[in-house]
Amino acid sequence: MKFKTMSQRSLEDDALRVEAVEKYEVLTTPVDPALSDLARLTTQVCNTPIAAVMLLDGDRMVFKATVGISVAEQPRGDSPCERTVTQQEVYEVADAYLDPEHSERGIELGGRIFRYYAGAPLITPTGTVIGTVFVLDSVPRKLTASQRDALTIIGRQIITRLELNSRVRQMELAARVHQRTDTALTVERNFVSAVLDTVGALVAVFDTAGRIVRFNRACETISGYKSSELLGRYVWEQLIPSEDVPEAMREFEGIRTGGYPVTFENIWLTRTGSPRRISWSATALLDAQKQVAFIISTGIDVTVQRDAEATLRESEARYRELIEGSLGMVCTHDATGVLLSVNQHGAEAIGRTVDEVVGHSLLDLMFPGTEKLFAQYLDQIARTGQAEGLLHLRHLNGELRVIAFRNKLISVPERQPYVLGFGVDVSDKIRAEGELRSLVRQSNSILESIGDGILGVDLEGCITVMNPAAAQMLGYEPAEVLGKSMHDLIHHHHPSGQHYSWETCPVNLSLRKMETTRVSTEVFWRKDGTFFPVDYVARPQVDTDARTVDGERIPGGRAVGVVVAFTDTTQRRALDRMKDEFISTVSHELRTPLTSLRASLGLIQSGALSTKPERTRQMLDIAIGNTDRLVALVNDILDLERINSGKTELNYSMFGIDELLRKAAATQRTQAARADIEIQVEAQQVDAWADPDRVSQTINNLISNAIKFSPKGGRIVFKASRTENDEVQIEVQDSGPGIPEDKLEQIFERFHQVDASDSRSRGGTGLGLAICRSIVEQHGGRIWATSKPDEGSSFFFTLPSRPSDSDTSLI
Ligand code: ADP
Repeated sequence: MKFKTMSQRSLEDDALRVEAVEKYEVLTTPVDPALSDLARLTTQVCNTPIAAVMLLDGDRMVFKATVGISVAEQPRGDSPCERTVTQQEVYEVADAYLDPEHSERGIELGGRIFRYYAGAPLITPTGTVIGTVFVLDSVPRKLTASQRDALTIIGRQIITRLELNSRVRQMELAARVHQRTDTALTVERNFVSAVLDTVGALVAVFDTAGRIVRFNRACETISGYKSSELLGRYVWEQLIPSEDVPEAMREFEGIRTGGYPVTFENIWLTRTGSPRRISWSATALLDAQKQVAFIISTGIDVTVQRDAEATLRESEARYRELIEGSLGMVCTHDATGVLLSVNQHGAEAIGRTVDEVVGHSLLDLMFPGTEKLFAQYLDQIARTGQAEGLLHLRHLNGELRVIAFRNKLISVPERQPYVLGFGVDVSDKIRAEGELRSLVRQSNSILESIGDGILGVDLEGCITVMNPAAAQMLGYEPAEVLGKSMHDLIHHHHPSGQHYSWETCPVNLSLRKMETTRVSTEVFWRKDGTFFPVDYVARPQVDTDARTVDGERIPGGRAVGVVVAFTDTTQRRALDRMKDEFISTVSHELRTPLTSLRASLGLIQSGALSTKPERTRQMLDIAIGNTDRLVALVNDILDLERINSGKTELNYSMFGIDELLRKAAATQRTQAARADIEIQVEAQQVDAWADPDRVSQTINNLISNAIKFSPKGGRIVFKASRTENDEVQIEVQDSGPGIPEDKLEQIFERFHQVDASDSRSRGGTGLGLAICRSIVEQHGGRIWATSKPDEGSSFFFTLPSRPSDSDTSLI
């Protein structure tokens, strides 16, 4: 007998075998003692020394149990097992030496040679032969029918055992898998619990009846209830305010009947009774039959958020109200200047409605000619994030409106940046400021030009304004006095040295009583410590529009300060004094000749001299002489008065001074000759621009004085020359007694004579030089005298040599 070769074996059978053996996992598991028992049982049943349980594994034979031989595996080859596995029953080789299908060498296993083989196939319940259980012997044999049967049964038992083992393993595996699933489930459950307790969100699970089955930590924290207190209770029993219960039940029913997922908000009452607003999102958990098994709600506590939203809404509304009610212009515009919003007042300020301007560029609203500033404005906003200044807008009626603005770039995440602008229409203010400025300029120039000193004094008595005339009179710079007490600075003492209190100061009283006060008996003190007499008027400054805190107009207004206008009366007083003196002098000068005149005429009238014609004639001479003197005196007084009061107009012309001097000399020469006085003219040709009649009057006065005061044989010299200042200088020099140094100035004053007897002895009025000075000064010249005692005096005066520029312009 011959075995089939490997190639003859069915490959499909081998594949099925490998699969079946793998299923039993017999090759990879430890040896089952039961198989060894069955192998031993086989030797006993078959009465052989050797038995083995062999399983095929691809190209090798694996021995899972052996008796009487030790072998683990062997390659498949010419083994009778190959024949056994191809048939469904016991295969027996009684004597291999005699069997044609086997080699004469016998059957080889584990390095030993046997002559006998009997094997039963191991057939799985699905009919696959996976191996054999066989016996060997070194001597020929033959199985009995019962032995054959027993060998077949053992083969089946082995398969049963393998099946059993396999089932057990499968069950163990299933058990292990089940256990693993259980563990995983527990882990999962714990994980879910942990997650639910960790998350900040509220998670509550309800059964379909609305009972709480899960209540996470966040729910506990918010509600103040432990989950153990609420599990199994209806949510609306405890947490929902009673007035909200019907709504909550309706909501729940809606979800339960398929209205999920759903979001809603409701109120939970906490354990302490305080309400919390929760925003929920709920859905249903379905069972295997797709029926709603549970309802799971996740929520967040939005109480603070809603409160904040309400506050925000409120503040937004208030803000909007504020903006709309604001008297300023509030707007927003984009980066290109297109208006996004504007308040009503803002639009109305340029005569438009909100709708008319929103969506338009600010540029379109600008006053013509100012548009180029807009690019600069946008550029500045883009560079620095803000801008402020003046915007010139055009009112619908064409007027310019000037808006003072302060705008800021606002950057909001995920939005285009925009510019928020606040503006105030300052057009009227600018106009008013302009008017105020010109008013201030006007009043400043008035203050600067008037000769009276002006001081502004506030309610505290401090100086707020000082005009240049006041500064000049008081000897202070304005900066030195502003803010200082007027009374302490310039009004502190009476001239007697007695302290003068602010309480009794008329300026203060004027302020308090709101009455204008005139004072002419006081003095003001200069910075240098000297004082001068003043006439002043203190007039309260009244705010006629003043109101009380309640807005009531104060009748008569409220004093806000006082203005003190003053004049230095030193000069006026001196003039008054001079006038008084003048009157008394004139009276005196008039009375003397009048007395003499009266006496002469009285004597003649009495008839006492009727027999004495010579005395009568003398008395008449005296009367005539005194009358002449009175006429001369009155003429001089009138002359002087006319010149000083500017009543005599000068008739200017260009004429030769030397010529005039020569004429005067010629006229006076006869009189001079009578006194044996010589007159010389040493003048070159010099022209003067003056009134020739007045200049003659001056020269004649000086000549008559010179003649009057010159001794017999004396000499008078006239000179005329041009000075460095381009003036004409005239000199009348005599050889008289001269004038004392300290009188050189005084003699030009009225009625001033070096010697009081002069008027009588020399017949003067004491007004001649005063008239000369008035005439010369009226021409813009100067007059003075020099003298050397006992040698003579020189009188000088100057005149213009040509018309002044202003005169020329008049011509
Ligand atoms: P009168 O009419 O008294 O001359 P004037 O005003 O002309 O008045 O002169 C005033 C005084 O000046 C004279 O009274 C005299 O004392 C003095 N005076 C004027 N001219 C001369 C002079 N040439 N020599 C000396 N004294 C003179």
